[in-house]
Amino acid sequence: TISMLAVDSDGRLCGACTTSGMAFKMHGRVGDSPIIGAGLFVDGEVGGAAATGSGELVMKTLGSFLVVEFMRNGMSPAKACEEAVKRIVKKVPDYENHQIGYIALSKSGEYGAFSLQPGFDYAVKNHEFTGLKEAEAWLK
Ligand code: ASP
Repeated sequence: TISMLAVDSDGRLCGACTTSGMAFKMHGRVGDSPIIGAGLFVDGEVGGAAATGSGELVMKTLGSFLVVEFMRNGMSPAKACEEAVKRIVKKVPDYENHQIGYIALSKSGEYGAFSLQPGFDYAVKNHEFTGLKEAEAWLK
């Protein structure tokens, strides 16, 4: 999955996401990416979030919506992503066999990410930084 979140200097937000799908998927499987709230969610009053990884787990927890709701309640983007990963860790017994990565961006331009497995890089471009960052991960 490739997801993008952007905010302009007036705080207008947008997001998009594509998907490569999953290997060996069931015929007709849709995945999380085209389901608003699962693979992608943007609320113009708060911020946006997007996911990559095991779409079934993202769908079952409505992960991107969850991240935005955590941000609405005051969490930073990175903390909100972490809490959404922890929701999956709590509910999915074999979570160690999956990868999930969330990115999030607030209306004020604060951003963050968190993943289940280490090695999830995300790209940032703003006035201060252009380049890759590695998200913190639940598993070390
Ligand atoms: N999230 C996608 C899916 O489950 C997989 C991906 O990360 O490309 O379809």
